[in-house]
Amino acid sequence: MSVVDTDPALVRRLVDVVGADHVLADDDVTAGYRTDWTGRFVSPPSVVVRPGSTEEVAAVVETCRSFGAALVPQGGNTGLVGGGIPLHGEVVLSLRRLDGISEVDADSGQIVAGAGTTIGTLQATAAEQGWAYAVDLASRDSATIGGTIATNAGGLRVLRYGDTRAQVMGVEAVLGDGRTVTALSGLYRNNTGYHLPSLFCGSEGTLGVVTAARVRLARPPSHRVTALVAFTGVDAALAAAVALRRTVPTLEAVELMVAAGIELVCEVRGFPRPFPEAHPAYLLVETAGPATSLDDLDAGLASVAGIADAAVADDAARRRALWRYRESHTEAINTVGTPHKLDLALPLPELPAFVDRLPGQLATVAPGARLWLFGHVADGNLHVNVTGVADDDYALDEAVFHLVAEHHGSISAEHGIGTAKRRWVSLSRTADELAAFRSLKAAFDPDGILNPHVLLPPAGP
Ligand SMILES: Cc1cc2nc3c(=O)[nH]c(=O)nc-3n(C[C@H](O)[C@H](O)[C@H](O)COP(=O)(O)OP(=O)(O)OC[C@H]3O[C@@H](n4cnc5c(N)ncnc54)[C@H](O)[C@@H]3O)c2cc1C
Repeated sequence: MSVVDTDPALVRRLVDVVGADHVLADDDVTAGYRTDWTGRFVSPPSVVVRPGSTEEVAAVVETCRSFGAALVPQGGNTGLVGGGIPLHGEVVLSLRRLDGISEVDADSGQIVAGAGTTIGTLQATAAEQGWAYAVDLASRDSATIGGTIATNAGGLRVLRYGDTRAQVMGVEAVLGDGRTVTALSGLYRNNTGYHLPSLFCGSEGTLGVVTAARVRLARPPSHRVTALVAFTGVDAALAAAVALRRTVPTLEAVELMVAAGIELVCEVRGFPRPFPEAHPAYLLVETAGPATSLDDLDAGLASVAGIADAAVADDAARRRALWRYRESHTEAINTVGTPHKLDLALPLPELPAFVDRLPGQLATVAPGARLWLFGHVADGNLHVNVTGVADDDYALDEAVFHLVAEHHGSISAEHGIGTAKRRWVSLSRTADELAAFRSLKAAFDPDGILNPHVLLPPAGP
């Protein structure tokens, strides 16, 4: 169903619910909602509806249900797996207007935020009141709390604080049948059955539309130290990541980069080369805690082999200057071409063998393609980005996912499945697990109107 086919009666009813200003149909106006961040997923024209309250969200869902019209919830549209784009003519339900945020509840160390609140705003609000929100990612100024819950976003500090699921104390959500479940009390102990908030984490908009969330905050560390460490080889960097994880108690982030990525970032962003010579691999390492975290970092680095050079910073400006080499990767790769973005998780002992086999696998299915490798590697996460392959050529994705399965990994570490990976979700989930997923979906969304084309593989043989 394109916007041309969208039932005019449905559009009129949506206008009744949210007002004419918040039902967008003009192609130019909706273009930004129909194209993903990478440019790989672009949908035909569609209607965008922008409710301003939970009640309006419920009324929009109920209206679409009565017309049998499918919905794609959307937050900041920074998702990387084509999950928030109306590729099948769905109505886009934008949550960005739900951007209210409470004061910090200092007794519990929690805060309540509307689904459309960006992670940047959440972090800044917490910081003003002496707290920190532990989930951090380079898309922080656009990605929303609703979107990060729906994708169970990971990011830079999972190593220490866990993923989004670990922060979520409560959720308010509108289910596919129009009912609203509200679990925002924030009780640290509430052992009364299923934990509904957890179910929405990683559900990719298939079970309910998150309208608000209550999340736990952390106390910000008094001291942070960041090091950019160059290694003689990728193997040495991977071994160091695992060793640091084991030995450094204040470790907060360990990010892998390789020579090609650093070179590209320097070229695209005009940054100075970090060291006089290029090196095969780099780790961006951060410790945080009391002032002794510098000693922790020094001791950790002294115990690993293969270090070729290092730059260490403990003031904000120089730390930021080191982080920008890592945080500019996604943007810089986009300038080379539309990437296939495969975010993978491997058991730590399998990482070296997987990284070793990857270029050969690519050369077989996509000769001439360029491989860009980086990731939150101390958690076993690798971002495998490939440019020089047609957007709709999935042979490469398939080959890499099978290699991941051979090494007992997961086809998604943090971005989710979306439309891009749904064909291969059975490589990471058993048939019985997928059957349980379908039962949950049917219970929460009996008419199957919430993001019906993501996550679960198409039914049938
Ligand atoms: C530069 C860059 C860096 C990134 N780094 C990371 C990273 O380190 N770690 C990481 O995990 N991700 C990362 N991402 C991916 C992305 O930012 C995350 O997936 C993020 O969680 C998406 O949030 P969003 O608000 O943009 O959601 P959207 O892109 O709008 O939507 C993502 C999915 O969530 C669903 N959804 C959105 N809002 C709701 C809602 N309120 N209720 C129900 N479903 C909803 C959508 O239907 C879709 O399936 C990065 C992206 C970019 C562009």
